[in-house]
Amino acid sequence: MGIALLVLVGAAALFVRYATPDTAPSEVVFLGGDIVTMGDPSVVEAMWIKDGRIEQLGSESAVREAAGSDAEIVSLDGATLMPGFIEPHTHPLATALLGSAIDVGGFTHDSRAQMMETLHEALGGFLPQPWIIAFGWDPIMIRNLAPPTLEELDELSPDKPLVILTQAMHEAFANSAALREAGITRDTPDPPGAAFGRDEHGELTGSVLEVNAVNYLLRALPALPPALTELMLRWTLADYARGGFTTIGVLGPVGRAEDPIGLLRGLGDDPHAPVRSVVYGLPSQLDLDEKPDTNHDTRFELRGVKFWMDGSPYTGGAAFAEPYADTELTREELHLKPGHMGPLNYELGAFIEELGRFHRAGYHVAVHTQGERAIERVLDAAEAVLKTDPWEDHRHRLEHNALITTEQIQRAKALGFELSFFTDHIYYYGDRLPELVGDRAERYMPVGTAFRAGHRATLHSDNPMTPIGPLRVMRTSMLRIPRRGDEPLAPTERLTVAEAFAAMTTHAARQLGVEEHRGSLEQGKAADLVLLSRNPFDTAPEELGDIEVLGTWIDGQPVDTRRVSRPNLSIALRAVRQMAAR
Ligand SMILES: [Zn+2]
Repeated sequence: MGIALLVLVGAAALFVRYATPDTAPSEVVFLGGDIVTMGDPSVVEAMWIKDGRIEQLGSESAVREAAGSDAEIVSLDGATLMPGFIEPHTHPLATALLGSAIDVGGFTHDSRAQMMETLHEALGGFLPQPWIIAFGWDPIMIRNLAPPTLEELDELSPDKPLVILTQAMHEAFANSAALREAGITRDTPDPPGAAFGRDEHGELTGSVLEVNAVNYLLRALPALPPALTELMLRWTLADYARGGFTTIGVLGPVGRAEDPIGLLRGLGDDPHAPVRSVVYGLPSQLDLDEKPDTNHDTRFELRGVKFWMDGSPYTGGAAFAEPYADTELTREELHLKPGHMGPLNYELGAFIEELGRFHRAGYHVAVHTQGERAIERVLDAAEAVLKTDPWEDHRHRLEHNALITTEQIQRAKALGFELSFFTDHIYYYGDRLPELVGDRAERYMPVGTAFRAGHRATLHSDNPMTPIGPLRVMRTSMLRIPRRGDEPLAPTERLTVAEAFAAMTTHAARQLGVEEHRGSLEQGKAADLVLLSRNPFDTAPEELGDIEVLGTWIDGQPVDTRRVSRPNLSIALRAVRQMAAR
């Protein structure tokens, strides 16, 4: 008994020691590897950090002399230190919650049969959760993927609600139990810009099309215990840190939680939060009496508002100027009629009103726009609003921009708009784009044109839509070669390595309104850093994906990305108590 107790106490002591995060001394000099500043000069030998800020950069001798004997010398052992990557557009809460969903995605499946097999296997076991969610249904990545019928869905799960979300998150398939719990019947009107699929007799098919309809369905989904959601969120934020990010832009905190913004705000003063979040809330989550944050030293800032002007290219939702291509893919798998045009979510007058309200309250306005018509509508509205309420340097943003034209890129520049591009479309869907938009694939995601027009454009991966992976995103912007293909798509739109890395550091910092504090290594800026196994500027673009992320720092302190750590343990205990109390 005595020995058992001793062993237990010893194990607990070891665990607490293991689970306690590392801390760095308050003064450190880094040397012994390339220090890439993303500023001027572009590479230095040494950097002195004090109390979380960059104190000095330069030659080893100059920095050592300035720092004196108080600073600890840390050798990089030939690795490369850079400003931490900044993801300008992502959805960490949705990524966290979908992390526990059944994965039927095109990253892990090659056919409909495989996906159905995964569903059958998963649903055959014991599932304690009240709703079953599967994620990743992808008719573009998986060829010949007919949507699941209501019959199939009901057979998979006769009693419990079952929802299969598409990879693009703009469509879902619900079984009868899920439709019932959400109160969706054949008489339920379609929400704006969205639809509940119906057959020729008006009966529901289980298909739920576009964001407003998907949100209507998921409102009925019971929320998890708050501490469990918090734990999953922290694990996901650690995944971003493992990818090399130190700041992320949360463009619409979508995901079922009681208070998504409050959850992120709760991490604001937490020195163990794995990344900093800059948040653009949904209009319904924001209170216009509350001003956006101006303190950049915390790990949470409320910056703006997020709207959707159109939908996804992969559901028929993108408001392109010309109809979708008439192909087997669009007819048979997306069920689009020849001549199909994606709808716009707002009339011009209504959007002038919405944009104007947030613009006047000082919010940065970010709008999902894939097609030319969506982009035109946002720019028309902005022009009207800026005429009555001028705002120099407003930083409003257009998101994704699949088919933005050269004229629109120039007009956006003239109106002071920022552009963020979703280049993973080229990598994951590039081989199928001609079947969706024909020749227009040759001007898809025109990032090079945006750079040439003087935009400080950015690149994002919109997780969970594509996996976290900044080096893959930058590589794709430099090569533009689809995963299933050898030829570049629109090679004139390729970026240089300097442009690609600026997009994910200095430009992204600017877009999120934190460029005076982060994004490059300069005296006085926060010591938010990423350590890479190789210098990407000396690496062939094809090999960028092989670079390892060795760690990140925020405010000069190493980021703890372990799932089991002391802060996470106390949240886990709280989650257990909350579950027991239910
Ligand atoms: Zn998004």
